[in-house]
Amino acid sequence: MAVAPTQDVKAYRNYIGGEWIEASSGETFGVENPSSGEIVATVPKGGRDDAQRAIAAARESFDSGVWADMDPDERVRIMKSVVDKFTEHEDELAELESLQSGMTLRATGTVVIGYCINHWDYFARQADRPRQEPLDPVAFPTHSYNFVLREPVGVCAGIIPWNFPLVMAVWKLAPALAMGNSVVLKPASNTPLTALRLAELLDETDLPKGVVNVLTGGGASVGEELASHPDVDKVSFTGSTVVGRRIMQLASSTIKKCTLELGGKSPNIVYEDANIDAAVDGALWATFFHQGQVCESGTRLLLPESIHDEFVEKLVARAKQIKVGDALDYDSDMGPLVSAEQFETVSNYVRIGQEEGAKLVLGGGRPPDAPDGGYYFEPTIFTDVDNSMTIAQEEIFGPVLSVIKFKNDADAIRIANDSIYGLASAVWSEDYDRCLETARKLRTGTVWVNDHHLINCIAPFGGYKQSGLGRELGTYGLDEYTEVKHVHVDLTRDPQGKMFGVLLSEEPLGPEDVG
Ligand code: NDP
Repeated sequence: MAVAPTQDVKAYRNYIGGEWIEASSGETFGVENPSSGEIVATVPKGGRDDAQRAIAAARESFDSGVWADMDPDERVRIMKSVVDKFTEHEDELAELESLQSGMTLRATGTVVIGYCINHWDYFARQADRPRQEPLDPVAFPTHSYNFVLREPVGVCAGIIPWNFPLVMAVWKLAPALAMGNSVVLKPASNTPLTALRLAELLDETDLPKGVVNVLTGGGASVGEELASHPDVDKVSFTGSTVVGRRIMQLASSTIKKCTLELGGKSPNIVYEDANIDAAVDGALWATFFHQGQVCESGTRLLLPESIHDEFVEKLVARAKQIKVGDALDYDSDMGPLVSAEQFETVSNYVRIGQEEGAKLVLGGGRPPDAPDGGYYFEPTIFTDVDNSMTIAQEEIFGPVLSVIKFKNDADAIRIANDSIYGLASAVWSEDYDRCLETARKLRTGTVWVNDHHLINCIAPFGGYKQSGLGRELGTYGLDEYTEVKHVHVDLTRDPQGKMFGVLLSEEPLGPEDVG
């Protein structure tokens, strides 16, 4: 349960149309530090009318062309100035991210800030991408010059989760802006602070007002309004598959474009010829990074019989060395879970795992020496897991690893693909041909060979099956923020050579008559 603040906390406001405003209801809610359970800030409790106001601001800025039609060099310059803001404020942003999300300072100070700078910079450099793509001249159906215009989609809504608040804000804002769109961003209610701080930094740049709007409020109110409002042209969502389905349903009323990055249950296959010590640490990194609250965490560890016992022994010994503690303590390897609710969810899955017959070999609850107040959970390992068990099929979003045995490569691939999810996977072996052969057969949007979690700004990221729709990052991600328009310029001067002769000619025409 949240603990009341012991001193005055910062009261954030929403950023709409370049102004800092309260929710129209005047209501606010508290943001907790999951390491202590204390309220550390308040934010406006926006509702549907606030969302409508943000959508109107984004619409006005888009329709005015102030950003969409800006000189591309100028757009690049402004976007690059945001990279400078990240660099100038990296320590402060890392601390704020750790404070609200429970991700360790060691991770926010490296992974989060590193990704934000690298990814924003990549998209900034794409902001002058040519908008016109010529096509080869053709004689059929008639002589014509054809080209494609790549145009912004319009008003894009970004709805983001609490696990990587700042990186997710970058993923929703930067590609949309690079392609000339205007955006309304709704951060998760648990972790809205870095998105609002980013809005403050954007406000200090020359980005025209109204192009980016950030507002806080519940998923059922603000989120649903963004997903259904007719003036929103596209919704980009990251979060649970359950909410992803709801968003798709709401977006269908106006045939909004959707990008959905949803849940995962990523398999991590270790073959017997892998570098075992590296694979042991890789399996810990795959599962316990950010307390397992990562959509592509390697939560199913697939091991062959021949190395199973030795591997598990090393894994458990190494996992025992993981130090769980306050996210702001630089010595902590793992911080707390994001909320009391998430702690309950994870605890419940541990109970289900035991009831279904899996063997708990490590952890399973609150560490005995955890600091007071926070939502700390031990690194938890189950063996004797059958892939049909709940803990192997459902996304737990906590530090819980399920170890599953396989007989041979084909069996490993079969088990890996036996999931409603298809976000990511990993394979470990010193035999690269074997890894690549496996990679081709895995039905996931990303496959890592001898590593995990490495997302790259130039490579597409997204899921097969119920892990999502569309791709983020790289040119694949940029394309999701554009409409393509075909322009056909007729070069046939002679009316007789035009296709409309088919309609008007008294004589039957053959294909040789047109063009
Ligand atoms: P949700 O999917 O509920 O939340 C993600 C975002 O969607 C938040 O901004 C949330 O707002 C918003 N939202 C919630 N309901 C709606 C709605 N009906 N319409 C529009 N937007 C909505 O994730 P949770 O925080 O509830 O986490 C639940 C589970 O989801 C986790 O245990 C985990 O399994 C999975 N998850 C997966 C993530 C991923 O990256 N794949 C990330 C986070 C969670 P608000 O915060 O105000 O509710």
